[in-house]
Order: sequence, then C-alpha cells, then structure tokens
Amino acid sequence: MNLNNFLNSGFKFREDEDLLQFKFKMLNSIFPIIAFFAALFGLMSDLAVHDLGPIHSKVNYVYSFLTLLLIFFLRQSKENYEKAAQLLLLISFATFTSALIFVTQNEFRIIWFYLLILGAYMLKDSKSGIFYTVATVGIILAANFFVDLQLSQKAINASILGLMIGSFLSLIYTNKITDYENSLKEQNSTLSILASTDYLTGIMNRRLFNEISKHYFQTAQRDNLNLTLLLLDLDHFKSINDSYGHQSGDQVLIHFVKIIEKTIRKSDIFARIGGEEFAILLSQTDYDTAYDFAEKIRTEIENMTVQYEGKEISVTTSIGISKNSKTDNSFDDMFTRADQAMYQAKKAGRNQTCYIRL
Ligand code: GH3
Ligand code: MG
Ligand code: MG
Repeated sequence: MNLNNFLNSGFKFREDEDLLQFKFKMLNSIFPIIAFFAALFGLMSDLAVHDLGPIHSKVNYVYSFLTLLLIFFLRQSKENYEKAAQLLLLISFATFTSALIFVTQNEFRIIWFYLLILGAYMLKDSKSGIFYTVATVGIILAANFFVDLQLSQKAINASILGLMIGSFLSLIYTNKITDYENSLKEQNSTLSILASTDYLTGIMNRRLFNEISKHYFQTAQRDNLNLTLLLLDLDHFKSINDSYGHQSGDQVLIHFVKIIEKTIRKSDIFARIGGEEFAILLSQTDYDTAYDFAEKIRTEIENMTVQYEGKEISVTTSIGISKNSKTDNSFDDMFTRADQAMYQAKKAGRNQTCYIRL
C-alpha cells in the first residue's frame, strides 16, 4: 500500500470530489500522528520520563487505540467520513478534558482545545466549530468550579478569550470558503448547461445528443427494445434567409422548435444537431408509430406561419426515419440510415417522410 492509497483510504475520487479527497488526506495524516504521540506520552509517563498521572496516561493509550480504529473505519466507506471526523473530535475532546482535570502540573494544557476547535472547523463545518467552542468554554468553567485546576483566574480568562477570538476568526474563514465552494459549484453547473445547450433555441445541442443517444442505444440493444430516430431538415432554408434575412430565419427556427416541443413526450430526446437540422429520438417506439408521429410534425410545420416584420413566412421539413437493428454495432449505424432516408425525402421532392426499413 503506497502513501497516496493510505491517505485516500483506498478510494478513488471523482473530479468534483476534490474537497472531500483533501479532507480524507487531512484526516488520514492526523490519525497516525495522534495515535503515535498519544501512545508515546502514555509510555513516557509509565516510564516516569513525563508525568501525566496514572489516569491520564491510560486515557492516552485509549485515545491512541481508538484513533487507530478510526483509520480502519474510514476505509470501509466514503460515507464514513462525517462519522469518523465527528468521532475523532469527540474522543479528542474527552482526552483534552481528562488532561485539563488530571494533569494539573501542566499550565499550558488548554492549548489542546485550540487545536480541537480548529480541527472542528476544518474537518467538519462551522456548526461543529461553534459546538466545540461552546463545549470547551463550558468544560473549562465547570472544571474550574468543581476542581482545583491550579490555574490562575487570569490565565483562565485569557485562555477563554483567546479561544473565542480564534473560533470567531475560524468561523469567518470557514464561511467564506464554503461560499466560495458553493459559487464554484454553481458556475460549473451553469457552464455545463451552456456547453450542452443550443444558444438560439435552448434545446440540447449535438454534443449532449451524441452522449445521450449512445446511452439510449446501448440500453435498447441490451434489453431488445425499439428505438427510432427522426432526422429533420428544413427545406430550402437558404432561400428563406436570402428572401427575408438571417434574423427572420432565426425566428423560423425558434418557432419550429416550439411547435415540436409541444408535440413530443417528455421522454423523447430532441436536439439541434446542425444549422437547420434536428433529431428526435423516440424510445420504445416502432416504425409505424414513429411514421405517424413524423407525419404529424411534418403537417404541423407545413401549416405553421411565422410573422416577422409584417411578413408571413412558411416552411416545410423533410424527415428521415430509422430504427435500431440487431446487426447495428453502434448508434452511428442507425444515424446513417436516418440520414439516407432524409436524403431520399429531399430527392423525392421534399416536405415528406421517408424511412429505411431493414
Ligand atoms: P435543402 O432543402 O436541400 O435542405 O436546402 P437548404 O437551403 O435548407 O440546405 P442548405 O444546407 O444548402 O442550407 C442550409 C442553410 O441554413 C444555410 C445556412 O445559412 C442556414 N442556417 C444554418 N444555421 C442557421 C441559423 O442559425 N440561422 C439562420 N437564419 N440560418 C441558418
Ligand atoms: Mg441541412
Ligand atoms: Mg435544409
């Protein structure tokens, strides 16, 4: 097992999980350090090199042992991260409380709580940071009330003030980082929507269509399901641009898309795959149903008129249909057949539906 594998708890992380991976690495770096030093301090105390007292030296061994267990617990599942971090904070809090009460000859032992609070913000979140700040202040005040901590009131006051200021600064920092992370995620999802959407009509573009259709094709082939593809190409579209201008051509494309969007089912895949070329993928649909559907679209487009700057523009569309076949190796095979069918429709005079039946 190499170091990277150990730090990742043996998991692979996706690109969008880099923050989680960083947290895994932090936790897996902290675990062995704690386990080592806790055991070392316990041992030194037993060997009378360093006096922790009989109770706290045992607590240190337990702390060390539980931290080692957490390494294995974290390796079980990625979902264990939150619990592992929470458990580490909890056993650390218990250990530092034990030090506060039992190691009275050490005037600097409150320092461990600073690390705990910082750890709570970094490994968990601001809620956890605030929780351990309140818990720490509470335990210091309570211990000071019930036990002689052998710390001056001034030392305790300064420690509590320092803890609260440190916690407040960490809170601001953590919130800023969280905001930053959220806005980054939002930007990423906006970018991926933009990258898969056609700017003019708002429907999916060829890039996303290719990805989705590959997936649909594989499922249909595997489960022996019908999958039909309609390729639509507007007729003489160049002459619409030439006669009425490019902007009016754009309006025709937008209206064309609106009409089709009203006709298709939610499960149908509709994309703009080229300038005036569109595709509709119909799952669990046979030739005859696809043909009727294509004819319905074709007549609706034929009857559509687009008003633009006082002019009435109409357009027709040629449609080619293909269906998946057992002998198809990839989606490209059925795409080529639909393209050939569309070409036939053009050759036969346009404004019609053709299909290539195997
Ligand atoms: P056919 O019936 O054979 O399909 O003839 P056509 O004129 O439609 O075919 P062709 O492929 O020669 O021309 C397609 C035209 O579509 C050319 C191009 O200017 C136009 N076009 C492509 N994208 C857009 C667009 O986004 N807006 C507009 N207005 N026109 C576009
Ligand atoms: Mg074309
Ligand atoms: Mg055309």
